[in-house]
Parts: sequence; C-alpha cells; structure tokens
Amino acid sequence: MIDAVGTEVDAQQIGEAHKQILLMWLVAHELFHVVRHHDEVARHHGNDVMTQRALEHDADNLAIAAVYRIASGPFGNFQPIVVKKLVFASVYCAISDWHQCFPYRLTDVHPRWSSRAISIAYKLVSLREGERTNWHLDAEWLRDTRELFGLFDRLQQGLGSLDSDLSAQQLWAKHIDVIDRWEDLKADVSRLSGTLTSLRESE
Ligand SMILES: [Zn+2]
Repeated sequence: MIDAVGTEVDAQQIGEAHKQILLMWLVAHELFHVVRHHDEVARHHGNDVMTQRALEHDADNLAIAAVYRIASGPFGNFQPIVVKKLVFASVYCAISDWHQCFPYRLTDVHPRWSSRAISIAYKLVSLREGERTNWHLDAEWLRDTRELFGLFDRLQQGLGSLDSDLSAQQLWAKHIDVIDRWEDLKADVSRLSGTLTSLRESE
C-alpha cells in the first residue's frame, strides 16, 4: 500500500508504527515537562498563558526530536525524510482527532493544534545528521520543508482539521509569538533544569 507519507510500506507494520510513535511522543512530551522543570519555570514567570504555551512548545519539540531519533533505528532503511513524514503523520492524526473531540482544550495552555503541528514539522526539518553549519535554507532544508509542510497541508485538507483554510506558512507565522516567548524563557529553563536549550543541543 501507499500510506500518507507516500512510500510503499507494509500496512500492518505501518499501522503498528503509527501507534507506537504516538505513544512514545505523548510519554516523551510529559516526561520533558518534568525534566525541564517547566512547573518551576512557569511559577517563576507568573504562569501566564504565553509562558505556558512556550513551555508546551519546548516539550513538543524535544518529544518529536526524541521520537524521530528512536524511529530512525527500526526504519533506518528509509530515507530520513520518509521517517520524518511517518513520525509527523502519526502524531498529527491522533492529536488532531483528540482536539476535534475536545475543542475547549484548544484555548489557554496549549497553542492551537494547527500551530503546534506546523511547529513540530519545522522542528523535524531542523533535525539533521552531521555538522550544523550553513544548512539553513540549503537544498535539503528547502526540500524537507516543502515535503513536511506539503504533508501537513494534505492532512489538514484530508481530515478537514481546524484551520484547514490556512496554509502551513500562514500557521507558522501565527506561532511566532510563542517562539518569541520561548526565546525569553530558555535561559531560565536551562539554569533551573541543568539541561541545554540552544537549538543544536536540545536535539
Ligand atoms: Zn504538555
């Protein structure tokens, strides 16, 4: 069969992989809240909505990076972009469904799922092997962005998800205020948790 990521795969294998990837991502997301001392950081900064959203952004990014690295083991025979699309589709579909069922949860603490999802896609684009020098906007970066944002748009349209009238680029622009808040917080997250928060080390 050809699955959502556009690769010929065994249906049973891919179905199991989607479930396992989603579970790993959920557990990793919650675990990183603890590892990064997010409660303490939020208390320190007044626990306002933007602070909480920025910390959710941090947990999302760390979780997707961890899950991608893990999935790269059993799916090591696939191209990295295929594994990224598999990981992204797994997380997107389940969380999108969940948010459709519980729309009241779209407010407050978590950024809108559509914005979280595009941010997760962007994080996946940034995960590269080897030396991180001058890769930003290079051919691989552009191709991976096009592939993952394209998959995001197809999933949005196909599932009729929230904000499916907006493009990936438009949603990414809406997430910038969360990232700006994260930039304000990340030195304190690093200090309180004893972990690294620069783009490179946080992978
Ligand atoms: Zn969370």
